[in-house]
Amino acid sequence: MRVLVAEDEPSLARQLTLTLRRAGYAVDHAADGERADLLGNDERYDAVVLDLGLPKIDGLTLLRRWREAGQSMPVLVLTARASWHEKVLGIDSGADDYMAKPFRMEELLARLRALIRRSSGQINPELRCGSLVLDPRTGKVTQEGAEVKLTGHEFRVLSYLMHHGRRLVSQTELTEHIYSQGFDRDSNTVEVFIARLRRKLGFSSIETVRGRGYRMNAS
Ligand code: CA
Repeated sequence: MRVLVAEDEPSLARQLTLTLRRAGYAVDHAADGERADLLGNDERYDAVVLDLGLPKIDGLTLLRRWREAGQSMPVLVLTARASWHEKVLGIDSGADDYMAKPFRMEELLARLRALIRRSSGQINPELRCGSLVLDPRTGKVTQEGAEVKLTGHEFRVLSYLMHHGRRLVSQTELTEHIYSQGFDRDSNTVEVFIARLRRKLGFSSIETVRGRGYRMNAS
């Protein structure tokens, strides 16, 4: 799962980026509206944390542009104060949720998990596939009750596949959702992570459909 943080306040941006990375997300950061617009159009995000008061292009304008262009990723808007007017404008412009500053990081993480879960069609907070369970709240993966230790990339690959249930996910799509921008992808390809996951979870845990992609195998 990959998240864009559009926030110009350096200390809050750092804190957000760090917290989200620790929670297992690939994170890109934009310090102004122009950069956020570029990333939002070129890259694929599972969610965006969008500050409304951004330099160059403000958050509301950005949000309207993205929605008009058909970008459907969930957007959580950050407002500088608890102004009802800004909240209404934000939601009417296509925001999926909002938080007023200052806020608790735990609450932001919970709201993001819910947005990502809903947008990928999941109802339960815990993702299950046969005896395999992934809990986005704790970042823990268990199989038949025993904890399975995964690296950051392995976790992101598994989390993306499990969020999408039995849907076939192409290699390109997986690649777009597990790395942050500028990450050296050459020696860390999706095939390598899939092979490592199979070694840890059993060969049949992930199905390959030749030339089309991967999906979880519940049987
Ligand atoms: Ca701001």
